[in-house]
Amino acid sequence: MKVSNHQSLSCFNTLAINAIAPKIIELESISDLSLVDDIDLKSAYVLGEGSNTLFVDTQTPVIIKPAFTGIELNEHEEYTELEVKAGENWHQLVLTTIDKGLGGLENLALIPGSVGAAPVQNIGAYGVEFSDFCRYVKWFDFTTKQVVKISNRDCQFGYRDSIFKRSLKDKGLIVSVGLILSKRWQPKLTYAGLDDLDKTSSAKTIMDRVIEIRSAKLPNPNHLANAGSFFKNPVVDSSVLSELERKYDNVPNYPISDTEVKLAAAWLIDKSGLKGYRLGDAATHEKQALVIVNHGNASGKDIVDLASYIKTTVFQHFGVMLEHEVRFIAKDGETSLVQLEREQTND
Ligand SMILES: Cc1cc2nc3c(=O)[nH]c(=O)nc-3n(C[C@H](O)[C@H](O)[C@H](O)COP(=O)(O)OP(=O)(O)OC[C@H]3O[C@@H](n4cnc5c(N)ncnc54)[C@H](O)[C@@H]3O)c2cc1C
Repeated sequence: MKVSNHQSLSCFNTLAINAIAPKIIELESISDLSLVDDIDLKSAYVLGEGSNTLFVDTQTPVIIKPAFTGIELNEHEEYTELEVKAGENWHQLVLTTIDKGLGGLENLALIPGSVGAAPVQNIGAYGVEFSDFCRYVKWFDFTTKQVVKISNRDCQFGYRDSIFKRSLKDKGLIVSVGLILSKRWQPKLTYAGLDDLDKTSSAKTIMDRVIEIRSAKLPNPNHLANAGSFFKNPVVDSSVLSELERKYDNVPNYPISDTEVKLAAAWLIDKSGLKGYRLGDAATHEKQALVIVNHGNASGKDIVDLASYIKTTVFQHFGVMLEHEVRFIAKDGETSLVQLEREQTND
């Protein structure tokens, strides 16, 4: 276990926010968990690679960073089973599986972050989600100090959602994930960008295409600090879509049910005139309005102010309320844009 005090987290979050952690506890093995004080365990923020985290204050809670690594593979007749430790890098895992001739994870290539964070918001891209391959998650409970296995069903996966964001939030940490990759692999090519690929394309060809599209569309956090899609795509009543279609041609939407559709948050922000909009060093990306970037010295508060402005402007234009996908972490733990706006109004 490595412990450091009063350290800047600017290199530990992809928005490069310079917030100070009172303590960073890096766990090198699962047994290190028994060495962590109860007070730290129960008040800490579990940080992976910080690609879905916004530190909103200049100070943060104690940081616990699971850094244990390892990939175990078990071959079966019909499928390959993997158990992957939380500290592995997600994209590196995708590369490893494709390299071993195992199809399945190719559509999820180049998603930044750690394996341990993947179940938390049930990462997804190009019509595929983490939950499609997850068999179980191994979870260390801060109160019982036991590791338990949580089945896919009990993880309560949804769109960018799981039990780890709800009833298990702050109650423990993910130690490893169990995945199943079927040997009867079928390519998933329905999503725009992949739909022109030949149906006999290999998993490697699909992965290369995903990497190519993502590299062209999304800024690389190593070159321009960002946390990917800042807001979720809002799910609205179909009547909201009908209203929009009276005013605009080709409104992007994905049917969810007979009565609900998912709108594209990027389109809403763009049509509100906010693509490339800048507030100090915080800005929306010039090519992809859904991505908020830090051009240099933006603070957590600067990003919050911009996010609040975007949310209000989109609501004024379309009556649609955006919700952030990025986790907002204040000095004393998790907060939200709504909560911060409320506090500002009360000041
Ligand atoms: C350029 C870019 C593109 C992106 N594209 C996508 C995309 O296509 N699809 C998508 O779904 N996401 C995308 N994201 C978001 C991000 O990649 C994912 O949310 C990723 O899973 C975050 O991993 P992380 O380790 O960086 O998590 P962090 O930001 O460190 O943490 C995120 C959450 O997970 C929790 N957490 C982390 N590790 C653990 C653990 N071991 N146990 C318990 N809780 C834990 C944290 O407490 C926090 O609540 C993108 C981000 C960027 C910067």
